[in-house]
Amino acid sequence: MNKWECVLCKANLDGDCYHAEPIAKGLCCKRCHAIFIMAKTDKEILKAVREQSKIYQQTKDKNELPDGEYFFAFSQEQLDKGLAKMRQTTQAEVFNLGMGGMIGTKKASEELNKFFAEKENLIRQTCSPFGVFYYEYANHEGDYGARDSEFNDEAEQITKEYFPDFNFADPNNRKVIKAIVDDWRNRCL
Ligand SMILES: [Zn+2]
Repeated sequence: MNKWECVLCKANLDGDCYHAEPIAKGLCCKRCHAIFIMAKTDKEILKAVREQSKIYQQTKDKNELPDGEYFFAFSQEQLDKGLAKMRQTTQAEVFNLGMGGMIGTKKASEELNKFFAEKENLIRQTCSPFGVFYYEYANHEGDYGARDSEFNDEAEQITKEYFPDFNFADPNNRKVIKAIVDDWRNRCL
């Protein structure tokens, strides 16, 4: 199927598309359609966003790292032990895979990169930037004085990792983001 870009969240998708009018010209995705077209009030917008954040959480949680020729080492002892164990099953060269103390073979590195790419893709296909932001905002708020700023930088960064073209400054998007932030503050502050 051909990939197309949602005019609202800028995600590249191959799923169902909907008309984005009257919010924008062109086609939008199912997630944005639920938020921008179907929802009429902040409450309805938040309901749609919350459902999408649940899907994001489930996708994150159920996709744990696959088994493979790698291990984690945070000390020399862990490194020695891990290498000794790995040598029982493979003679392949091992590397620091550069993912938080992960040591493994080239094969493991390729498998893990594929795993992360597939997971990211699944999140792009099934969630919206708003669902990701909703979850990550609640997850990271309070980390470092973010209460003084309008948004939470970390949540914004994570959202952009999945949806690099998503525009936080766009007035339509901003309205939804603001509703998410206000909702969190009303519930938690
Ligand atoms: Zn969209």
